[in-house]
Amino acid sequence: MADGKVLRTEPLDRAPNHLLPVELLEPGRGGRETSPELDRRTFLKAAALPCLACGLGGAGVLAPRAAAARTKEDESRYIREARFYEKQPHKKTKCVLCPRECVIDDRERGYCGVRENRGGAYYTLVHSRVCSAHIDPIEKKPFFHVYPGTTAFSIATAGCNVNCKMCQNWEISQVRPEQVRNVYLPPKELATLARQNGCKSIAYTYTEPVVFYEYMVDSADAGHAEGVKSVVVTGGYINRKPLEELCRHVDAIKVDLKAFSEKYYEEIVNGKLKPVLDGLVTMKSRGMWTEIVYLVVPTLNDSDDEFRRLAKWVKAELGPDVPVHFSRFHPEYLLKNLPPTPLKTL
Ligand code: SF4
Repeated sequence: MADGKVLRTEPLDRAPNHLLPVELLEPGRGGRETSPELDRRTFLKAAALPCLACGLGGAGVLAPRAAAARTKEDESRYIREARFYEKQPHKKTKCVLCPRECVIDDRERGYCGVRENRGGAYYTLVHSRVCSAHIDPIEKKPFFHVYPGTTAFSIATAGCNVNCKMCQNWEISQVRPEQVRNVYLPPKELATLARQNGCKSIAYTYTEPVVFYEYMVDSADAGHAEGVKSVVVTGGYINRKPLEELCRHVDAIKVDLKAFSEKYYEEIVNGKLKPVLDGLVTMKSRGMWTEIVYLVVPTLNDSDDEFRRLAKWVKAELGPDVPVHFSRFHPEYLLKNLPPTPLKTL
């Protein structure tokens, strides 16, 4: 895959969806290309259990393991034409959704692994293809200044457009959709589930919602029709035009600003800082409620100088009303050699 991105190649039974309602899962049986799907009816039934309406923090969707029947995957239901791409000669496509701007040959996929060129047209493969679902307090996203004290019906699909070495959800972000278990959850049913479970909002989170852009936008519209808000948890690695469009559909965006140096973005994130900063400015100019989270990684992005430059930039470019949260790093994925962030630093 492009840019040396690490992709897991384990069979399904070694690629757990730790964020999915585990009670619905059985040990994997299939190989990578024969991904079993959760039975949708089982998922919806479980998600409608009254206990979820209590809004218990971090509560998963509960159901007896015995009810975990599966159906054969019908991939076509997940496929929609992508909204932001350009056709090129020789059946190539150029994805213009994020700054990576992958140029893709026929039958190949972009860096994120969830968008594919089929005969010179470009498609998302993860519309309504949910690999993680949880009901979380909105403060866990974290948002601290929108709908406080409420719960968010939080979902993700597989895939990401960067490859952070400290990713906590790499088992679902750094894989293709065929490598994880999924449930078919179209926007209207997602919105209804969120409302029935007393959630104020749907949160697009855990992996990178930019790569499931079409599903996110359609779900936000469906949510609004049911009186449910939409909040986005993103790395902010998105091009201006799709971001402006997104701002017309969602209610709040939280950006994981990974550091305030291009070097960190290049070496640790496999992305670029400038498009993220430009995106933050665009969000504010569109009147979007925006919060920032900065994960403090010992020795890599924790200097006083970097914090000062960040704070000055936020105040000057976004304004003093934009919350910046500093969060604690825990050794994960490819950065297990570093200690957790000392409390003294925070
Ligand atoms: S969204 Fe995916 S395919 Fe499109 S440019 Fe970004 S990484 Fe490439």
